[in-house]
Amino acid sequence: MADRLIRATAANGGIRAVGTITTSLTEEARQRHKLSYVATAALGRAMSSGLLLVSSMKKEGSRVNIRIKGNGPLGGLLVDAGLDGTVRGYVENPTVELPPKANGKLDVGGAIGKDGYLYVIRDVGYGFPYSSTVELVSGEVGDDVANYLVTSEQTPSALLVGVFVDSEGVLASGGILLQIMPKAARDDSLVELLESRVSKLSGFTPLLRAGKTLPNIFEELLGDLDLIILPETNLVRFHCPCSFERVLRALKLLGEEELQDMIEKDEGAEATCHFCGEVYQANKEDLYKLIEDLRSESLS
Ligand code: ZN
Repeated sequence: MADRLIRATAANGGIRAVGTITTSLTEEARQRHKLSYVATAALGRAMSSGLLLVSSMKKEGSRVNIRIKGNGPLGGLLVDAGLDGTVRGYVENPTVELPPKANGKLDVGGAIGKDGYLYVIRDVGYGFPYSSTVELVSGEVGDDVANYLVTSEQTPSALLVGVFVDSEGVLASGGILLQIMPKAARDDSLVELLESRVSKLSGFTPLLRAGKTLPNIFEELLGDLDLIILPETNLVRFHCPCSFERVLRALKLLGEEELQDMIEKDEGAEATCHFCGEVYQANKEDLYKLIEDLRSESLS
């Protein structure tokens, strides 16, 4: 099944639910960045979280960035997700591996570290992104993003994200976000109800691996609460807008002297995009062309 995101409401609009399946895009990130198992789980959880968070924004072009910086060996990660369903991201130390925890789950909290910060930047497309920071709760990503929603955005939320990866690659990835809308936020019993239902689930990926679809999962969680599943399905995918042209523009900013140096020493230049791992090679001719451009610009 293609990666997707669907939305639903329940309790007469008092509950907003979003679910996403990110199996293919997490596998793409794993291959692009040559991620270890635990790094795959960390980045996959964060990419699902980014897509779930951005899904509530309205204006075309809206984006959410999630940056997590803990004291663990993974070193930190960054995710950039758009309302258009595109997401990209990377971790600082992609090859770090840790033994699984006693319960068999990958030790994402150990890899990220539980001391540190989660930064969320929401860009609504007006050029004034707003950001907020919360301390990490566990480094497990899902808990940390849920804590951010509750403490920083004051939206009672239950978030469940997961990644199942083994030697064959990513076999399941995705998550669900349940939020109590402002008009129902004073209803504490609703908050407790959601938390207890989500905590009863043993995780998100076991549901996917058992063949459940997102509508099945919503039905199970909210079926008795006037559930309305919205008809639109959004496709989600790993996408990075980097290109050879952008790399050339960046190289040009280095100036003639630096470019001349690259031609003499390296006979070209190589640049790797942090976000997607794409490697770009500019040869001597490309660099000479940039120098020509710079010269003709300075004459005009
Ligand atoms: Zn890129």
